[in-house]
Amino acid sequence: MKVAVIGSGLGGMLSAAILSEKGFEIDVFEKLPFIGGRFTNIEYKGFQLSTGALHMVPHGSRGPLAKLLRRAGAKVEIVDSKPAGEALYKGRRTEIRKKKFPLKSRLNFIKWCLKSRFREVKISEFENDLDDFSRGFLRAFLGWSLSITPDEAIFSKILPIYHQTVKCGGPGIPIGGCKSVIDALTEIVTSNDGRIRKRTGVKAIKPQDYGFSVYAGKDIKHYDIVISNIGHVETGKLLNNEYATHVEPSSGIKYSISLKEPFIGHTGVLFTFNTRRISGMNEVTNADPNLGKGHLLMAHQPVLTNNIRYEIAQGLKDLREILKGHEYEILAIQSYSDGWPVNRVKAGQDIGFETPYRNLYVVGDGAKGDDIEVEGIALGVERVIKRIEE
Ligand code: FAD
Repeated sequence: MKVAVIGSGLGGMLSAAILSEKGFEIDVFEKLPFIGGRFTNIEYKGFQLSTGALHMVPHGSRGPLAKLLRRAGAKVEIVDSKPAGEALYKGRRTEIRKKKFPLKSRLNFIKWCLKSRFREVKISEFENDLDDFSRGFLRAFLGWSLSITPDEAIFSKILPIYHQTVKCGGPGIPIGGCKSVIDALTEIVTSNDGRIRKRTGVKAIKPQDYGFSVYAGKDIKHYDIVISNIGHVETGKLLNNEYATHVEPSSGIKYSISLKEPFIGHTGVLFTFNTRRISGMNEVTNADPNLGKGHLLMAHQPVLTNNIRYEIAQGLKDLREILKGHEYEILAIQSYSDGWPVNRVKAGQDIGFETPYRNLYVVGDGAKGDDIEVEGIALGVERVIKRIEE
């Protein structure tokens, strides 16, 4: 069976690798000159910056992505973070543990869990019932992990993500950063005679009686199955069928910072509470020193207004305060929105992998399973593979 994969992001490459192992004939089409979409490295001044992700796998070696990579035979080493998370609260650093959250806030959490069974509850409603520390953590967690604010988050949709995060015990960092994951998947695809065509954008998909004609570059080829890694909206455009319209991406700004001396000093996330914008930071060189000559600190903020210059100014003010007294250089400020967002669909609003067409599926963010970021992408890919095999 012939499969066309549109886009070489994480979802596309996971699907391509697993199906190529199962004997499917794979063509991956990528419009850009590099493989990996928002999950690969960019080398700059001796540091491995990234096209998107903060070199973090949200549930580390115990999560769905790590499990799927092992199943696919991808050789990736993920270093689990220790501690999982720390808080920068009122100028002091403290490890995040259950007992840091007052009993009253924990009981209120249970109350809102029950309420959310009966009606749609926004996290902003629930946060008013929390103490300052718990509220600070909630805001920082949503901003760092999902690039959203409590106003944009539905309690019942975030709950499964929270439970998975607690169950898996924290994030991890792949040795070699995001690119090591993409390289391992590329190796599997090519070793199974799959083809990856860079600089070859797909212009149209035409459904046929059986299968699809795919217009890529100058060629038109027939495929039995199409897996699209470009989200429902863009897939609809290729079909000339705008079947998905109400899809809202999440935006964010990432700062890559070099330091001679470590600032965080461990492999976990430092959540920054009660700031203007910056929600958290990680220092990936503590897990893999080869990610930078010196230390590479990555900070992230959600975007709260339409004025990107203002947003960056707010983020930079935070960074100046947080890093006061430390010698550092900002290597890059990258802003993410629209067609290259943090998430193609805001957390909790994914619309599944099905399209109106049999044998045409969507993978990647925007078609995630019930989990966070790349873990959700892995669950979405698993569902598509299962459907193809049925
Ligand atoms: P994408 O990365 O969207 O790739 C799709 C590919 O399709 C692209 O290469 C594109 O060029 C190609 N394409 C588009 N149109 C066409 C066409 N017509 N023909 C051919 N090719 C086409 N997640 C985490 O788990 N951990 C993190 O630490 C993390 N941090 C993040 C920080 C930031 C700042 C950002 C932006 C994202 C972060 N994420 C993180 C999210 C994660 O990076 C993305 O969810 C993930 O990389 C998206 O993968 P995808 O499979 O949707 O593919």
